[in-house]
Amino acid sequence: MTIVRFAPSPTGYLHVGNARMALANWLHARSKGGRFILRLDDTDSERSTEEFAGAIQNDLRWMGLEWDQLERQSVRMERYRETMDALKQAGRVYACFETPEELDFSRKRLLSRGKPPIYDRAALTLSDKKRQQYEAEGRIAHWRFKLDYADIDFDDLVRGHVHFHGSNLSDPVLVRGDGTYLYMMPSAVDDIDMGITDVIRGEDHVANTAVQIQLFEALGATPPTFAHTPLLTDIGGKGLSKRLGSMTVASLREEGVEAMALNSYLAHIGTSDTIEARTSLDDLAGDFDIGHTGRGTPKFDPDHLKVLNAALLHGTPFEDAASRLYALGLERADADFWSAVRPNLQRFNDAADWHKVCFADINPLVDDPEFVRAAAGLLPMEPWDQTTWQKWTGQIKEVTGRKGKELFLPLRLALTGLDHGPELKVLLPLIGRERVLKRLGGES
Ligand code: GLU
Repeated sequence: MTIVRFAPSPTGYLHVGNARMALANWLHARSKGGRFILRLDDTDSERSTEEFAGAIQNDLRWMGLEWDQLERQSVRMERYRETMDALKQAGRVYACFETPEELDFSRKRLLSRGKPPIYDRAALTLSDKKRQQYEAEGRIAHWRFKLDYADIDFDDLVRGHVHFHGSNLSDPVLVRGDGTYLYMMPSAVDDIDMGITDVIRGEDHVANTAVQIQLFEALGATPPTFAHTPLLTDIGGKGLSKRLGSMTVASLREEGVEAMALNSYLAHIGTSDTIEARTSLDDLAGDFDIGHTGRGTPKFDPDHLKVLNAALLHGTPFEDAASRLYALGLERADADFWSAVRPNLQRFNDAADWHKVCFADINPLVDDPEFVRAAAGLLPMEPWDQTTWQKWTGQIKEVTGRKGKELFLPLRLALTGLDHGPELKVLLPLIGRERVLKRLGGES
């Protein structure tokens, strides 16, 4: 069975790039009848907060990305300690005593000579005397994984065949001097323990994958299948950052973006598939294929999202809108109202403005009282339907000789207080004769 995980660190709010990764994992699992695990990578106790952990879950639920299992790294420390012991016993990790300044110095020296900044494994040849001296100085060891200097190959679902050689990578630090774990080892241990079959993540992790493949093997496990997608940028090509709070899911939600508009956009951005407004996650999962992801950098265009959002609203049937209209307190929002205003919505909540136009007091804009009064005098009696507008304006045209914009705009301004909006032939019966007369300045 396919088992995937989305593994955010709760150190900030989800941005659209994170959301895309969550969605890709969810859709991949759903399309294969598999499981989706939410794993909170919260080993960094200083930067991880409960507030962010809660916000991430809230955002995922809003997107509809329910998880089958929730895991937290912070409760698995014992397991990581055991793993470190096993790696020590197997001779796959070694103690290092360099200070951050010393490491920085040798990194810069290598770079200035045009060499890659690969750790020189000086710690492996440390004399006992030197080690004792360091320990006497109070230095506490950090631990590195000893990479096998061999070929590392894997077939990536997005990048195709990927090749590394162990000697081109730095032995990664797995545990800091203070005993805290870096990302590398806990993630591999979790992937093993949780039976992860497919790892879908950003291409910033490709080199980590090479290291983790050796970790999986050192721990006696078979590596999962990998897919690394190019990272989403903003429209200007700048990277998104959880820390800077750019383009968050929460801010889009507050701006009135529909979850399915965001999902429709993120499911296919950066792929060879057509981006179109889809109404359900299952529909998206139906033809989702991570292998359709391209190698170019996808740019997140808020205007494109707006177009999808409007398209989705314009296609929403009344049955799906009813409870939300009710929740907005729009008591008179029936099916006729919805079909009248729906084509004009950019955001769902805009329906409240049109509800007011139809059923409450507005400020009519009247520039030419004489014309408007003449129109009021010609207003037919009720009952009204969608043909009333044409009959009425036909008469006004005959009597006043006005046509086109000269005829329609003053009426729209008086009836709605706005120069744009839904078709007046559908609004008119909703507004009703009494309110129309009042807005035209006649008696009711
Ligand atoms: N916490 C890691 C991140 O947010 C997870 C990466 C992974 O998917 O392995 O980058």
